[in-house]
Amino acid sequence: MLDQRVNPLTRSTAAGVLDSRAMKSGAIAQVMIPIPLRRVYDFIVPDEHVSSVRIGARVRVPFGRRQQVTGIVYDFSQDSDVPANRLRSIEAVLDAGPVFDETLWQLLCWAADYYHHPIGEVMYTALPARLRSGAPLIPKQAEYFALTEAGRDTDTTQFQRAPLQKQLMALLGAQPSGVSTEQLAAVGGSWRRTLAALRKRGWIETVASPVTETVRTPTATMHTLSDDQSHACNQIRGALDQFKVFCLYGVTGSGKTEVYMRVIETVLAQNKQALVLVPEIGLTPQLIARFEQRFACPITVLHSQMSDAARHRAWWQASEAHAKIVLGTRSAVFVPLQSPGVIIIDEEHDPSYKQQDGFRYHARDLALYRARLHNVPVILGSATPSLETLANVDRGRYTLLRLPLRVGGSALPQIEMVDTNSVPMQEGIARSLLDAVRSNLVRGEQSLIFINRRGFAPILHCLDCGWQAECGRCDARLIYHQASGDLRCHHCGTRRPVPSHCEKCQSDRLRPMGAGTQRVESILREHFSDARIVRIDRDTTRSKEHLGAHLETINSGAADILIGTQLLAKGHHFPKVTLVVVLNVDQSLFGIDFRSEEMLVQQLLQVAGRAGREQHAGKVFIQTAFPKHPVFAALQNHDYDRFAKEALMQREAAGFPPYHYFALLRAEATRPGDALSFLGWARNMLRQTLQRKENSNHSLQIGDPVPAPMEKRAGRYRAHLLLHAAQRRELHAPLQPWLMKLEGAPQARRVRWSLDIDPTEML
Ligand code: ADP
Ligand code: ZN
Ligand code: ZN
Repeated sequence: MLDQRVNPLTRSTAAGVLDSRAMKSGAIAQVMIPIPLRRVYDFIVPDEHVSSVRIGARVRVPFGRRQQVTGIVYDFSQDSDVPANRLRSIEAVLDAGPVFDETLWQLLCWAADYYHHPIGEVMYTALPARLRSGAPLIPKQAEYFALTEAGRDTDTTQFQRAPLQKQLMALLGAQPSGVSTEQLAAVGGSWRRTLAALRKRGWIETVASPVTETVRTPTATMHTLSDDQSHACNQIRGALDQFKVFCLYGVTGSGKTEVYMRVIETVLAQNKQALVLVPEIGLTPQLIARFEQRFACPITVLHSQMSDAARHRAWWQASEAHAKIVLGTRSAVFVPLQSPGVIIIDEEHDPSYKQQDGFRYHARDLALYRARLHNVPVILGSATPSLETLANVDRGRYTLLRLPLRVGGSALPQIEMVDTNSVPMQEGIARSLLDAVRSNLVRGEQSLIFINRRGFAPILHCLDCGWQAECGRCDARLIYHQASGDLRCHHCGTRRPVPSHCEKCQSDRLRPMGAGTQRVESILREHFSDARIVRIDRDTTRSKEHLGAHLETINSGAADILIGTQLLAKGHHFPKVTLVVVLNVDQSLFGIDFRSEEMLVQQLLQVAGRAGREQHAGKVFIQTAFPKHPVFAALQNHDYDRFAKEALMQREAAGFPPYHYFALLRAEATRPGDALSFLGWARNMLRQTLQRKENSNHSLQIGDPVPAPMEKRAGRYRAHLLLHAAQRRELHAPLQPWLMKLEGAPQARRVRWSLDIDPTEML
């Protein structure tokens, strides 16, 4: 959450503005290197590079024991604190000009400052991996291959003993217009060598790119906008030449995406680009298809599963403004844009916008700052806006646009609680719910069983003594995976075979407890042996193609029961689903994190939104042992407003975000106690710093070091130190000098530490 009154760019630490001034002879280049230290490094610029090196360009430099690293020039100076005889020289200049445009450069300098993160790492986060390792700025075009005439005529039976050849030939045969290197690489193995051999025999040739220049013909029909949609569109269109933040608050199925697309049309007509960020799980084939059906212009899609080469090309297309629409997950916020016209953040409340390791940025907050630099509007769309965003609406900083009704007038589904204390249960599922699924099946309608994975999964336990299988390296129970028949730790990845006997009492009565997706699947399969069941979770959808195939099955009506986790909750439009059953919410009701209620309500409304999106009315049942929990009252009436209002009041009273500002210093160490004692020392350092300041009238509160809620993870003991303040300035001001002291202090040697600004997860 950004405090708009602070502009750390005014601080002198950041160069802030890229300048094109060239070097004077004999000067020093300050180079940013991707290591976790908050500093830049001095290098001599040899005479042959004096005229070519620029601020913002990549250079190759010798560094430490590593022979060479790729760095980025931060600034020039006439002298260095390093004695001249110890200074090393730049070896090569890799770019003729800066790799970032002016605005991105400013954004990144600001981000390094705001998150107090080492600037080298910040800059590198924003670059495609290829460029980080020194590849030329302009990517190679993708190569395409096709069968020659001779290749088409070959007798494929000769490949019987050469499966790789057979696979490549089949792939090329199926796609006569050309197959990209990336598609071929997906075959795996020594595909490159095999390809070369086949080319040598004259069966394969390179061809011109079949796709990049095709102009699609949009097929989407244009809807007449509802009054609410028109109003929203007009408001946003009226602000396209200024920085303004709109909160587009509309229930699921209210036509938010339609509003985005209308605004994008206007932006494209002005010959500008649109950046659309979606959550990790929200970037579905359906969404991409919807954009492709609507727009004829080039669309660039960026996601985490892309190959390095494809990502580099997408990055380049966007920076050259070949891509008019950039659609991507979190890190797409760093894509260079030549002429942005709007930034859209769909499902802005989604936790996946926050990076949870390394440079812990929040893509929404960076997008807001970026839009301000570009002077363009931002649309924050959600059915359940984050409390941060709603607080900013209250303060009058953001403009609220509401879409209170579903398109086509279909009613929101009815939500009911099923009290597990008072109804008959069967293997952890209420019998009445099984009956409801049965009647849906009889009516030929689809049911969705949603399993809240947060804090719930099948754990192996002993029926005789209650022993539970735990990870030896983490404070976590191992999760039983039925398909592979092993136990896995979801925190560190450890795998173990299922033990045959209890480790405590030697009993052989070990059973999985609780209902993970696989377990629910087998219960339902037993129960509804003639139903077509599709399970969608991380295990069944490794790749985008798998997810696409599952969605196809569901939408064609070839599935009766869908079982899934978060992956199913978002973005998808399942016209035939009329019943949603939610299992395992209870642990999230009493989460240790002050945000867990907010996240639960958002998630449940999201899932509920999957029910009855078309003619049929939908019904949602939530199975819980705590039906009186206040969270459910708001849910039952789809009253997110009421929930948000009460939650904001509680946050204000408790001094939590968005009213107070948090920073969390995290530490971890292999020896118990080391992390805690480091944090104790760090806290004392901070106190001393503050006391030295005269007439210090600050509200900064420094907590005590505490073990993290999950104290042990991947064999390391973890601890937290929380700082908070009523004013952002008071939180941030002492951090930089403090962190400089922590860096390189002997006390820090045995720990890994990091600072998390505006933490969203306190595990
Ligand atoms: P949201 O993004 O709020 O979930 P969508 O934009 O996906 O909502 O709209 C839900 C469905 O309604 C989509 O199938 C969309 O094509 C359709 N739709 C959106 N706006 C209109 C409209 N004005 N008239 C008719 N159908 C519409
Ligand atoms: Zn036992
Ligand atoms: Zn573990």
